[in-house]
Amino acid sequence: MSQDIQILKSLIIIIMQITNNYIEANKERFLEELFGLIRIPSISSESAHKPDMIRCAEYWRDAIMAAGADKAEVMPTEGNPIVYGEKIIDPKLPTVLVYGHYDVMPVDPIDQWHTDPFEPVIKDGKIWARGADDDKGQSFMHAKAFETMVKTNTLPCNVKFMLEGEEEIGSGSLSKWVVEYKDLVKADVILVSDTSMIATDVPSITTGLRGLAYWEIEVTGPNADLHSGLFGGSVANPLNTLCEMIAKCMDENNHITIPHFYDDVVTCSRRERQLLNMAPYDEKSYKAGLGVKALRGEKGYTKIERVGIRPTFDLCGMWGGYTGEGSKTVLPSKAYAKLSCRLVPNQDHEKIAVLVKKYLEKNAPKYVTVKVTPLHGGQAYGCPIDLPAYKAAEAAYMDTYGKLPIPMRSGGSIPIISTFEKVLGIKSILMGFGLGEDAIHSPNENYRLDHFYKGIETIIAFYQHFAKGGELA
Ligand SMILES: [Zn+2]
Repeated sequence: MSQDIQILKSLIIIIMQITNNYIEANKERFLEELFGLIRIPSISSESAHKPDMIRCAEYWRDAIMAAGADKAEVMPTEGNPIVYGEKIIDPKLPTVLVYGHYDVMPVDPIDQWHTDPFEPVIKDGKIWARGADDDKGQSFMHAKAFETMVKTNTLPCNVKFMLEGEEEIGSGSLSKWVVEYKDLVKADVILVSDTSMIATDVPSITTGLRGLAYWEIEVTGPNADLHSGLFGGSVANPLNTLCEMIAKCMDENNHITIPHFYDDVVTCSRRERQLLNMAPYDEKSYKAGLGVKALRGEKGYTKIERVGIRPTFDLCGMWGGYTGEGSKTVLPSKAYAKLSCRLVPNQDHEKIAVLVKKYLEKNAPKYVTVKVTPLHGGQAYGCPIDLPAYKAAEAAYMDTYGKLPIPMRSGGSIPIISTFEKVLGIKSILMGFGLGEDAIHSPNENYRLDHFYKGIETIIAFYQHFAKGGELA
């Protein structure tokens, strides 16, 4: 290690001591302020809560101002307002854009909550309330990390905040807002805490989110449902045909056979595959939890890779003919299916939508007509692990957890993250501090207090490393 790096590392250790002292001295107040945010029932899917959405946005604006921003405002949209705030210490320095959401999921079934969802309580070292984790507890760590750095004179770069109130209902307004205010939110990286980590002692960073393509398939045979005795054997059965067509889309290794389907899939480096597979995984309990005797997936990939870095091809539903009580012999006129593919970074969902549609329609046997309708889709997201901002995040976790965080490719999707990349041309670093057991979207949502405080520390460490180019990892 060169002497310069050694000096910079010691400097960060000193900064962390100063900021930790500030956090320790203001711990209770941080929590009280978070509770104030949680007490506002900002349920975006229920129109009765419209005034709460505005109150919640104003609360955030005031919190950012009080933390030391140059300016913060509530910006109206057609839907719920967006909170924007910034502190520019030097336009020549890099800028971090913090993204979070202040809306929460509904609370029903309300009778399953042990306490009032909008009156946070602390029990067993956790905050229990709707939004405790998703995303009030997690996003508020950023406000307090920011305050800590401003008040201790340790903020090393510019910061912008962007908070929306529609994440739980599809981010409709923000998708448009971000296009309109592209220049306002210009930054070098986006920092997000709205995901989880593997376990309380296994820190991880989400580096990938899968995309999605979705279709409905209609197969038409004879012009009416037929008597399966009088006609069976002479006319193709659309349901049988649909099964054959779908079966041909995958081979015995669970590899998708549609030509050009994998063209844009980027192969993951050996190093990244190694890191991904460091995540704890017990196949026996995984199978037991699902109630299956054996697993099935693409040959040549581990379970973690199959879910994280490989695309899928899955029927979500299939129907046609007779599905009522008892039996009715019939040769159906039509057969239907809903089909979805989870996509991986660099696969374009619109391109795949057309590719699969054309393939199925073109290869339809003569005895049926096939109509494939794309329904909806979303882009995947991937963050390279050699990106300086990722390296900075790695170094931050090393400082606070003493462990290298495991990169995690989530099988799910957060569409707004890929929208940010498309519109703003920058990557997001997903530093989530939630846990799988936090019951987000469910009754008795909770968030560990130690994660709240350690999250603040790790965020502060990220800024220190990021401002130095992430080279100290
Ligand atoms: Zn969330």
